[in-house]
Amino acid sequence: MARYTGSVCRLCRRENLKLFLKGDRCYSDKCAFDRRSYPPGEHGQRRGRKISDYGIQLREKQKVKRMYGLSEKQFHLFFVRADNQKGITGTNLLVMLERRLDNVVYRLGFVNSRAQGRHFVRHNHFLVNGRKVNIPSYLIKIGDIVEVQGKSRKIQDIVDSLDTVVRRGVPQWLDLEKENQKGIIKGFPVREDLTMPIQEQFIVELYSK
Ligand code: SF4
Repeated sequence: MARYTGSVCRLCRRENLKLFLKGDRCYSDKCAFDRRSYPPGEHGQRRGRKISDYGIQLREKQKVKRMYGLSEKQFHLFFVRADNQKGITGTNLLVMLERRLDNVVYRLGFVNSRAQGRHFVRHNHFLVNGRKVNIPSYLIKIGDIVEVQGKSRKIQDIVDSLDTVVRRGVPQWLDLEKENQKGIIKGFPVREDLTMPIQEQFIVELYSK
């Protein structure tokens, strides 16, 4: 399936949630969601539309899928893997999504969006345990060390992003050594660490039909 190439701000407005897909702009007064927090399109401002159970489940799935920048196929594969693990499927899914390398470099503040994370991972800017990894979906493990590789340390986007990491904060399951452009995975996130307003049980219900 082709990747979505339209305006990503429309996605936030559709999901009625800031998905933080555009880096610095999301924190500025140019944020389209802050300026027009109603769905995009001609009927976006129409009130009183009743949404079905299926609609609620679908929106929840789309929200998470868009937040992490995945295609339907990629997202479904993650769901299947989460469903095959022990524990609560919805939580397993969110934890696995958080473990993706493109998300980890975003959470560590090396990049200012997951899309940029994916782009930079593909271009070999990061090392995992001293080895180049250019697979955005690579799942980090506890104890892994993720760092910006030597020649990439001066890239302005990475330096700027690290300068502003305090704005969104580094989650407690990661340990950032900002001056060394290095992060250590202290553990996997638990559900309480994932503070995004997601009701993952709706995604499980949707895929269980
Ligand atoms: Fe969403 Fe960021 Fe666009 Fe705001 S600026 S609508 S948070 S992508």
